Amino acid sequence: MKIKIMELTDRHLKCIIQDATPAFVNSLRRVLLSELPKMAIHEVEFHLGPIRDRETGKMFESMAPLFDEIIAHRLGMLPVPTDTRLFNFKAECVCGGEGCPNCRIMFVLNKHGPCTVFSGDLEAISGDAAGEVTNYAIIEDLIPIVRLNEHEALLIYATAIMGRANDHAKWQVCDSVGYKFFPHITIDDKLCDNGGGCIDICPKDVLGFNTKGNLAVKNLLQCDLCNACVEICEPRPEGGKSKGNMIKAIRVEGKNDMFIFTMDTDGSYTAKDAFEAALDILEKKYQDFRESISTMK
Ligand code: SF4
Ligand SMILES: [Zn+2]
Repeated sequence: MKIKIMELTDRHLKCIIQDATPAFVNSLRRVLLSELPKMAIHEVEFHLGPIRDRETGKMFESMAPLFDEIIAHRLGMLPVPTDTRLFNFKAECVCGGEGCPNCRIMFVLNKHGPCTVFSGDLEAISGDAAGEVTNYAIIEDLIPIVRLNEHEALLIYATAIMGRANDHAKWQVCDSVGYKFFPHITIDDKLCDNGGGCIDICPKDVLGFNTKGNLAVKNLLQCDLCNACVEICEPRPEGGKSKGNMIKAIRVEGKNDMFIFTMDTDGSYTAKDAFEAALDILEKKYQDFRESISTMK
């Protein structure tokens, strides 16, 4: 199998996967969507009662225009940067599930109205076992959580733990994960009348005329195999003869062992790390499967 990276940014990856099966590429898609371990806020504790602003001494009520559950849900969906080398799943941690710097990150949020509370207002107050806390700021700092009015305030303690999207969407790392068969377009110059109907109907601007005025493929990777160009093409006798098998000048097929694969992350992983982690998980699954088959009698 060969993988050729076409586009790579922090959160986006597009590649061509060659010599693979649809089953494999679909497994990769499913692992990216649901099996990557990720840190996400899982427990939220709301301070109740009055809150004093330390700087001004002014008193506020612990309240917000939204229910606590809605605020907690919004906090859960924030992308917490995840380094899986630093954290364990809580249930598998040396602390026996009690919670410790090896399996959780704690955040505090302390805001007084009037203001909009943003994701960037969450401050990490504990980090990994080495005491490093500065790396865990929420990736996007301008995600709005709630708008506080005059005299309203929020003092929240939140705990992030590792999980998988199999259990809840807050642990989902990737979105827009998909693939399509690599397109293969053939144009029979003898049959094509260069009328341009296929160029106009193509929704992806794949086709055009070359410098000689003949129909040509301009932008192959954009083709989504919709077949609109084939449908509009008038069938003509094969080989450009006056009679014979009626065929079309343009043919579009998807290669069934070659794929264009795209994915994006929410920022908790880089796209490269997510892709590599998914390949490692798949490899381990195949190994386990191979071993369990070999022990079958
Ligand atoms: S199959 Fe669809 S997207 Fe591809 S070239 Fe034809 S019209 Fe364009
Ligand atoms: Zn622990």
